[in-house]
Amino acid sequence: MPPLGHRQLMGRLVIATHNPGKLREMRELLAPYGIDAASAGALALPEPEETGATFRANARIKAAAAAQASSLPAFADDSGLAVAALGGEPGIHSARWAGPDKDFNLAMERVEAQLRERNASAPDERRAAFVSALCVVWPDGHAEEFEGRVEGTLVWPPRGDKGFGYDPMFLPDGYCRTFGEMSAEEKHGLPPRGQGLSHRARAFLKLAEACLDRR
Ligand code: IMP
Repeated sequence: MPPLGHRQLMGRLVIATHNPGKLREMRELLAPYGIDAASAGALALPEPEETGATFRANARIKAAAAAQASSLPAFADDSGLAVAALGGEPGIHSARWAGPDKDFNLAMERVEAQLRERNASAPDERRAAFVSALCVVWPDGHAEEFEGRVEGTLVWPPRGDKGFGYDPMFLPDGYCRTFGEMSAEEKHGLPPRGQGLSHRARAFLKLAEACLDRR
């Protein structure tokens, strides 16, 4: 039985992202639940400006805009890399650090340059976390919100070409391979084999527990 007080998600929904890496991961996460997921890009929905001060606020802005424009429940993630030695940056600005060309090699080089400026070379000076805020908003304005986080260390040079964004420099605690070296299954780490590894999978498991019915 789903926990009381949460609204159940079924049928069709829109995934409110224009980021192909996130879209792929969200589809993979939703697949076992029989949800028919259209993307904001495919429905030609506009990309709202992310004016919130937190991951949570930005996820809600994106989900609310897509729900209103599509008249469907909308599912959004706002996520990023929070580097302890950089006071949590790039954080909600993680996409922006990649510049107008969305060049994540450049974004990773910027992170590395900032760490070097601070002489952060030992692993404990290179701590970081990926954070994901997930939000579902229905066309009537009802919202459900969940957060997930995974702690790790930043390596240099980046390793692997399997993920997206900052994956190649993120080594999750307890593993010897970066997210960039992991298959999608390993990065998600979903049950029955795992308890959720990536920030997005951890947030998603909370959402699934509250709002989804496994087929
Ligand atoms: P936004 O949530 O669309 O504002 O963008 C967040 C940015 O954080 C993405 O463009 C990625 O660069 C980065 N990011 C979020 N999640 C991940 C992940 O799972 N792996 C690597 N980078 C990520």
